Amino acid sequence: MRQLSFSKINYFKKCGAKYRLRYIEKIKPETTPDYMSVGRMVDNALVLANEKNASFDDVIRNGEITFDDQKWYYYCKGIYDNRKELYKKVFGDDQVKLQQKISMPIIDPETGETIDAEMIGYLDGESKVKAKIYEIKTASQVSENTLQEYEFGGQTQLYSFAKKEEFGMYPEVEYVFVKKPMIRLKKSETQEEFYQRMYECGFEQEVQTFTVHYSEAQILETVDYFFKSIKDLEVAEKNNHFYLNRNECFQYGNKCEYFDMCWKNAVETESA
Ligand code: SF4
Repeated sequence: MRQLSFSKINYFKKCGAKYRLRYIEKIKPETTPDYMSVGRMVDNALVLANEKNASFDDVIRNGEITFDDQKWYYYCKGIYDNRKELYKKVFGDDQVKLQQKISMPIIDPETGETIDAEMIGYLDGESKVKAKIYEIKTASQVSENTLQEYEFGGQTQLYSFAKKEEFGMYPEVEYVFVKKPMIRLKKSETQEEFYQRMYECGFEQEVQTFTVHYSEAQILETVDYFFKSIKDLEVAEKNNHFYLNRNECFQYGNKCEYFDMCWKNAVETESA
């Protein structure tokens, strides 16, 4: 049975060309944007909070985590060295289950039949004591509007859907934002002092949490959107035709990880 992850579908929805490069041609990204590396390090710090052995550099090496800007290396080191504190801030006293694999059948939106594929994902965290799931994010700025970005089309609605049967209700979602520092090198400080400041920011993690209970209508709207997207993906794969979405090249100010390859190919094609 074919397995489709939320991130795979999301990749396709954002830019078909990016999906083709990554999942069909299996080309490794040229770069990993720093924000992704910080996010992965936070995930690692939470999962490894109660394990003692792996050193920070082991985690970086084994996870092939890289940073273009070294300041994030020091910030992540601070996060990792103080990971137990972060774990407490994020999960409180809850006995959470981390990185639970979940799967859900996929229904053909036109025929209503189950198709031979399943959607899989991993929950950031799940409470053992109440119907609650966690979604961990890293963000430089969190405002009241931030949550609006996740109201539709996010993995949390899918995961809520998948967990309904087990919980006997749709779980609430606790969004946890680990704030990334927005600091720059001061004129008065050396590079070493600046990196030390980044390290300390990792140690003094600022965390904001918001709890949301999505309505059934909101959840089903997202589920329907994803099922339709899977149908679109099937058509694109069958015809080997993937659209290019130039609006995605600089999402949140970060260059797409296939940017150079993609634009070079476009220039060559145009001039051929
Ligand atoms: S550079 Fe832009 S168009 Fe090309 S794959 Fe990335 S997001 Fe898509």
